[in-house]
Amino acid sequence: MTDGRRPLRFVVIGAGMAGILAVIRLRDRGFEDIAVYEKADRLGGTWRENNYPGVACDVPSILYSYSFAPNPEWTHRFSPGAEIQSYLEDVARRFDVERSITYGQEVVHAEHDGDRWHLRTASGRTDVADVVIGATGVLHHPFVPGLKGLDDFAGDLVHTARWDASVLLNGRKVGIIGTGSSAVQTVGAVVDGVGELTLFQRSAQWVLPQDNPAYTEEEKAGFRADPDSQRRLHDEISELFADGFANAVVDADSPILAHIAELCRDHLETVVDVDLRTRLTPDHRAACKRLVISGDFYEAIQRPHVRLVDADIDRIEAGGIRTTDGVLHELDVLVLATGFRVDRFMRPMEVVGPIGDRLSEAWAERPTAYLSIAVPGLPNLFMLNGPNGPVGNFSLIEVAELQMEYVLQLVDRIADGTCRLVSPSTDATEAHEEARTVAAGKTVWATGCNSWYLDDRGVPMVWPWSFREFQARMAAPEMDAYVLTD
Ligand code: NAP
Repeated sequence: MTDGRRPLRFVVIGAGMAGILAVIRLRDRGFEDIAVYEKADRLGGTWRENNYPGVACDVPSILYSYSFAPNPEWTHRFSPGAEIQSYLEDVARRFDVERSITYGQEVVHAEHDGDRWHLRTASGRTDVADVVIGATGVLHHPFVPGLKGLDDFAGDLVHTARWDASVLLNGRKVGIIGTGSSAVQTVGAVVDGVGELTLFQRSAQWVLPQDNPAYTEEEKAGFRADPDSQRRLHDEISELFADGFANAVVDADSPILAHIAELCRDHLETVVDVDLRTRLTPDHRAACKRLVISGDFYEAIQRPHVRLVDADIDRIEAGGIRTTDGVLHELDVLVLATGFRVDRFMRPMEVVGPIGDRLSEAWAERPTAYLSIAVPGLPNLFMLNGPNGPVGNFSLIEVAELQMEYVLQLVDRIADGTCRLVSPSTDATEAHEEARTVAAGKTVWATGCNSWYLDDRGVPMVWPWSFREFQARMAAPEMDAYVLTD
């Protein structure tokens, strides 16, 4: 640094959407000494790892883009995963992010000695940092259900979040377990080619219809010629989203939610067979589970070679799935679309603060963080998309950008000498968590369904206030909530 600020070294953990963002914004702020450690051999995070057939983002692409890198080339309103992966690679190239990334290095240990963080990777590489940014993702560790006999299955077994492209589907008997976004997208993408498709449903889901038009060449040319027009469109859609859907989900009585429920009900009515429609009817309110958005699911599930099985799974056998009614559903391929272990965040990494605070102990019951960003006793460690942040169909890029601007304000205080170490106080963190827990109980996610949003107590692990409130809280840190050390 040449401006009199203290030189700082940064380690960013993870080269997904948030890690790429962190590098770009740190450099914008004048920080150049940055190392990114990525455990895989390619950047992209969730978009690298989720490449099952049909994977797509159900947030409009115009919103699922960095504010500083609008993309005139999006092919559709909602883009396929591979396109998002290419976008992230392209942004990383354009902003020269890759020179900071070391691949194949999983950080397993971080310990603060009172002065700096000392980090160690699985292969034994070490590094030091004044500031660590945890950009390790939320939907990251696939959840494999403990179904009896899973290892006995003689066909091909894949998880949507660890897809194996060598597994052939064409003409074969394919079974899919799950009815979340991943399952629904997979069904729509594979239905044409498979011999038979059996969907194993434990809970029916509400499905919001999706219209996904392609951008015309004319529209794309317009965005290319005038990037500001795309930015304006971004802001308009973002505002509509924040004032519409995003605010509705945190108010279980909202009229917008009632409208969403009506759209889902009307969509379900497109299922002609009454018995099938009944079995596809959820027993919970729309948006209680994360809304599934699809334009082709109901059409696919009504095809003659597709079956919905809602009997409980008893066990997996070599030849297929045996349900509790005694029926064996024969399968060549079994797809687990069973989601993620969502309470991991930076774990299994061991993180130890200067006076011995351990992340494993702080999170022994469940993960918490002051405003999703920082943990008491672990100074100069900031998370993007950390625990209990906004997740309800928001653009996590927008969330991470707001969080990063907030983190940069704390980093500035370290760089300008206001303090050497900064961490949230225990009091502020506990007060935040208490208020969050109370507010979470009033959201639609707490209206009586089981979902990955709920913690072990049944409390939604989310930001339970409006998106506007989130923007306001991220605008500037309340420094009273922090412990500063010289
Ligand atoms: P998910 O929403 O957690 O769904 C998992 C599914 O597996 C559920 O239907 C669940 O049933 C079922 N399941 C789990 N264990 C089971 C068992 N033992 N027996 C039978 N069924 C079982 O996972 P996901 O579909 O991968 O989606 C996770 C999140 O990823 C989404 O909510 C979304 O945030 C994100 N995602 C986003 C997109 C996108 O378009 N942006 C696409 C894919 C995923 P129950 O419902 O009964 O628990």
